[in-house]
Amino acid sequence: MTIYNLGSINADLFYRLPHFPGPGETLAATDHWRGLGGKGTNMSVAAARAAAHVVHIGAVGSDGKWAVERLTEYGVDTTRIATVPDPTGHAIVMLDAAGENSIVLAPGANHAIPADLLSQAMAAATESDTFLFQNETNAQRDGARIASAKGMRVAYAAAPFDSDAVSAVLPLLDLLILNEVEAAQLAKATGQNVETLPVRDIVVTLGAKGARWINTDTGQALDVPALPVTPVDTTGAGDTFTGYLVAGLDRGMPMEQALSLATTAAALMVTRQGTADVIPDLKEVHEMRG
Ligand code: ATP
Repeated sequence: MTIYNLGSINADLFYRLPHFPGPGETLAATDHWRGLGGKGTNMSVAAARAAAHVVHIGAVGSDGKWAVERLTEYGVDTTRIATVPDPTGHAIVMLDAAGENSIVLAPGANHAIPADLLSQAMAAATESDTFLFQNETNAQRDGARIASAKGMRVAYAAAPFDSDAVSAVLPLLDLLILNEVEAAQLAKATGQNVETLPVRDIVVTLGAKGARWINTDTGQALDVPALPVTPVDTTGAGDTFTGYLVAGLDRGMPMEQALSLATTAAALMVTRQGTADVIPDLKEVHEMRG
């Protein structure tokens, strides 16, 4: 079984500063470094660390070779990542002395995914495979249509929230994953409680409170508690949760078991500083669960 993940690939450029620069101010960083990021990338790495076979579908510029190489090192199949004329997507992450961050995002190549890449990448996919996507690329709707027509499991993390993007793919989904804020935004946009939306499985993540699964076939909801940990950095917790959840389902686990795996992996992730580079592997997750 394969997870085809259509997703963003970013260079996360971190700058530590004494304070955020004001208008017209030029400020020297006291430290700076580059990390691998993007929601799509984080989810691919998480699913691969959860022992799934992951094909990442996306695009980088000619400056993105290092990102593709790192994804390959992390066990992701990168043969469906196109190199396009646009520069690789990047995020400028400014960190001030108080630990606050301020982020500028430039989508670049993530918004220049060639039209035929999805049909080519999923040519051999079958109904036992999964299509996963988020909102940081330009090809979501096409991808969901192709996957749905093939009878694949269609899983979607509606982040960053965009009501038009969600509405366009809602009828095609088997699994919808949202955090609490996104669930409230979607309820407002649709005028409907998310628990009543026409998607078979809906999972709402609730930060330190865990997650709630709504099975709309049975009308039942299951609350899964988070593991008690001392948070260090919650960045990437949601992406780790999604990657692990989808990997568990792809490997044939019942939803309850996949949710347990996902909440454990996400709890471990919030104890770590960083994103894709520090997503825990399956062995660490099993050790944490005990
Ligand atoms: P982020 O944007 O920070 O990556 P998110 O807003 O998409 O995350 P959250 O609901 O905050 O998603 O977190 C996702 C999952 O991570 C939760 O369902 C939970 O399992 C786990 N988690 C998040 N915060 C904590 C915490 N403080 N303690 C334990 N688990 C946590």
